[in-house]
Amino acid sequence: MKFIETRGNDGIKNSRVNFSDAILSPSASFGGLYIPENLPKLDLEKLQNLEYKSLALQILKSFEIDISDEVLKEALSLYDNFDDPKNPVPVVSIGDDLYISELYHGPTRAFKDMALQPFGKVLSALAQDREENYLILAATSGDTGPATLHTFKNRENIKVVCLYPDGGTSDVQRLQMVTEDGENLKVLGIDGSFDDAQTSLKNLLKSEEFLGELKAKNRKLSAANSVNFGRIIFQTIYHVWSYFQVVEEIGEKIYLTVPSGNFGNALGGFYAKMMGLPVEKILISSNSNNILTDLITKGEYSLVGREVQNTKSPAMDILKSSNVERVLFHLFGADRTKELMESLENRNSYTLSPKELEIFQSHFSASFSTDTECFEVIDSHFDRGYLMDPHTATVLKAHEELREEEYKNVAYSTAEWTKFSPSIVEALGITNIDEVGKKVSDREALETISDRTGTVVSEEIEALFEKEEIHKTVVPISELQKEILEFI
Ligand SMILES: *Cc1c(COP(=O)(O)O)cnc(C)c1O
Repeated sequence: MKFIETRGNDGIKNSRVNFSDAILSPSASFGGLYIPENLPKLDLEKLQNLEYKSLALQILKSFEIDISDEVLKEALSLYDNFDDPKNPVPVVSIGDDLYISELYHGPTRAFKDMALQPFGKVLSALAQDREENYLILAATSGDTGPATLHTFKNRENIKVVCLYPDGGTSDVQRLQMVTEDGENLKVLGIDGSFDDAQTSLKNLLKSEEFLGELKAKNRKLSAANSVNFGRIIFQTIYHVWSYFQVVEEIGEKIYLTVPSGNFGNALGGFYAKMMGLPVEKILISSNSNNILTDLITKGEYSLVGREVQNTKSPAMDILKSSNVERVLFHLFGADRTKELMESLENRNSYTLSPKELEIFQSHFSASFSTDTECFEVIDSHFDRGYLMDPHTATVLKAHEELREEEYKNVAYSTAEWTKFSPSIVEALGITNIDEVGKKVSDREALETISDRTGTVVSEEIEALFEKEEIHKTVVPISELQKEILEFI
């Protein structure tokens, strides 16, 4: 199958490319993204009894991508490193037709592993096959960084530079990055926010000097964020898997509820729906950065007068939600998508027509939760025996408010609570201030929760506190280019 461009073709780039090209060079004409030319149909009867890796292989093969079965199988074998290789995505019932599908049982304890684990293997196999060297630049607010470093560690033909805002991640997230010891990895703290990190990356990618140096060093650039279709393809699979875990018979409709930031997870659900999974609607949950709620309830996507707010669910503190563009393409075509995205670039906003909004709303509904609401959810569900992280907590309000039919609802848990333990102690009403009035550390919070609740902290997290911190550099943004070039 070929991949085409969300904003149409500029006459310079190829208008139809193979999957391998779309993932090695993920930027399409006019700053657009690659999408599959058509979507395969799921044969649910045939897929329903497969174990996870076989299900994944069948779905990947239905896209007819130019990656050998051998590489795909090796990539999927990375799910063997999840807690339970036979059931990498456990789905648990928490009552009232609500099921939580836990996407965080991989090595870095957040849902980014679902796609980045196999994606790292595929990308590196392609680079080796073509005898090309790649540099992956990643800016992270906390979860993408650890998962990207973990998957590319010691992989041939790949180097990774990961930027994180110094002081802007949890202790656990920072340790997951700075203790990662592959020769091909470089982690840099920057003096600034996540937005500063992302902006400085974008500036680097526009710098003639930087690109010239990369060329001289024989290194190409790729990306590991969810604009890369190589991540999205792995994110369609667990929606199908979760469906099979909850329905009594094939054909029964369900809701999917997705805590969303860059919309990659939700897009995977949209693709599964378009491929024939019986999904009534995809319910989008956000935090106070509720730009997606405005889009889906009013048809208006506007950055005007908005600034990113720091919340207790930082992975969703995003205003430029990249993957919405792919939905616009599938619903309204390339010309209209280009028009809307240009409006966003030039006027900081776009508005859907009433007819377009109606079409959008036939697939999606949306709501958002404040931090206070999330903490209440964490506390009340803990009392009933289930501990969830602050991102996952946003799904409860969406479930209660948006479900119109009594269908079952599969809501996604995107991180293990251990990554955000200071917020959990606060939510559970255990004080998060120690005797001398200092905020408790992640480690103290983890121990407190574990002691009080009998909840076991995963080995991956426990081990972090004993590891050596290898990457100690924190730099001002002005020195980034120099640091990166020295490394490669
Ligand atoms: C990345 C992330 C999200 C947002 O997912 P998108 O695919 O970007 O919408 C939500 N929760 C957690 C914990 C994440 O790491």
